[in-house]
Amino acid sequence: MTLAETPNYKNSSNPFLSLNYESALESLGDDYYDEVAAEEFPQHLLRWRNDALLPRLGLDPQVVKDEDFITAFGKFQGRKPLLALRYHGYQFGEYNRQLGDGRGFLYGQVRATDGELYDFGTKGSGRTPYSRGGDGMLTLKGGMREVLAAEALHHLGVRTSRCLSMIETGLPLWRGDEPSPTRSCVMIRMSSSHIRFGTFERLHFFQRPDLTKKLLDHVIEQYYQHLSAEQDKYALFYAELVKRVAELVAQWMAAGFCHAVLNTDNMSITGESFDYGPYAFIPTYDPSFIAAYFDYSGRYCYGNQPIICQLNLEMLQEPLKAIIDKSEMEAGLAMFAEYYQAEYSSLMLKKLGFEDLPHPEARKLLNLTVEFLKDSQVGYHQFFYEMARTFSSKWRDEPGFVMNNSDIVPVPGASGIFDDWCILYHKILNDFDSIRTDVIAQTLAAHNPKTALLRPVIESIWEAIAQEENWQPFYELVQAIQSRK
Ligand code: AMP
Ligand code: MG
Repeated sequence: MTLAETPNYKNSSNPFLSLNYESALESLGDDYYDEVAAEEFPQHLLRWRNDALLPRLGLDPQVVKDEDFITAFGKFQGRKPLLALRYHGYQFGEYNRQLGDGRGFLYGQVRATDGELYDFGTKGSGRTPYSRGGDGMLTLKGGMREVLAAEALHHLGVRTSRCLSMIETGLPLWRGDEPSPTRSCVMIRMSSSHIRFGTFERLHFFQRPDLTKKLLDHVIEQYYQHLSAEQDKYALFYAELVKRVAELVAQWMAAGFCHAVLNTDNMSITGESFDYGPYAFIPTYDPSFIAAYFDYSGRYCYGNQPIICQLNLEMLQEPLKAIIDKSEMEAGLAMFAEYYQAEYSSLMLKKLGFEDLPHPEARKLLNLTVEFLKDSQVGYHQFFYEMARTFSSKWRDEPGFVMNNSDIVPVPGASGIFDDWCILYHKILNDFDSIRTDVIAQTLAAHNPKTALLRPVIESIWEAIAQEENWQPFYELVQAIQSRK
């Protein structure tokens, strides 16, 4: 098939300009956005292209040229309208109406090969009516950090947006949290939606239940399609959102991820994780771990994430109550803890090597694991990776063999909790005839990659770029993450 015959290439030699764009959000009318123009940058250096996403767009990575990325996602040639989305939000508990896309816009919405609608949203594409005092830009380090977070989370099984491209744009930026001037980039984020809890909060603020209903119908139609024919679709939507968010937080917690800025403008109405700023993966299990230097009270610390997301869901009831019965939403929200626990237990047990364990043993093992990780402060990711690396069927023989070859706890017996943990793990291996050690080894390997995106790792990657203009460690890290090494 020649290029001209390929359906996706119908109007343009640039495959990105001929994707199956739909004007789903645009067709709702301009109550929800402002049309904006992109910044014209002095430079366009393609630093990252996510070829792994291209087949989902019906594109062959071999065919898509670097220049195609640059003209579409750096120069923004050939697509209009570009829409800065309007939203408000609760930031650290305070209502903020000075929000909205201040350094990004909705570039387009594309129907992918999986049948789902995806947003291409920019970050760092210039000023908009919502920029306030900001420059509308994204630092190269910030872009690189978001690329890495999204890839790492995706490959750890977290439902997340991903980055399609990152282009360095040649502007010097001044930032309080980076040595300045620092470098700039523009990033494309592919996500299920950029409609946020805060998008609804803004409509409530302006007392527009009509616009709330229109948006909610759109959300159900596009992202909760299976509910659209149901009579009580609104209550069912809220109940499912609760489930999606509860499961998402459980995925973060098991991955050891602290999002850091769980304001309601960073909560997607589809229950997907997105917008990675000062996030961190926890070095050790510490519920009070704070990732954002400006989170003085620890509101968004690692251990608070479930309760904060539950609270954000509760606050969302305020704008939605114009459409959905309050008592039905309360019933929906009452399920949060149960959904959270079920997902968290299931994911943690997989990290411990078990696809399934009879209930009392599962709870005991999980509790003891968390107690040990908290008490010992051994590396969170390292502990599970060491389990995967050193697991052997000999662990069945006696408790002293459990993890005895690992780097983590070289002196078994140093910790009473660790001894208890080894005894319990050994007991579980022996209690269930059906347990196959080869399956445990596979499960451990599948859920505990060696590569962990800890802060020192990211910093060293950035140092190589900033000091030596060496991008190789960055590409190698992404490669390791994507191949789950
Ligand atoms: P964030 O912390 O990235 O979720 O952003 C919070 C709000 O600040 C959003 O309305 C952003 O669009 C806006 N914002 C963040 N950084 C900038 C910037 N450099 N220029 C303009 N607006 C920004
Ligand atoms: Mg944000």
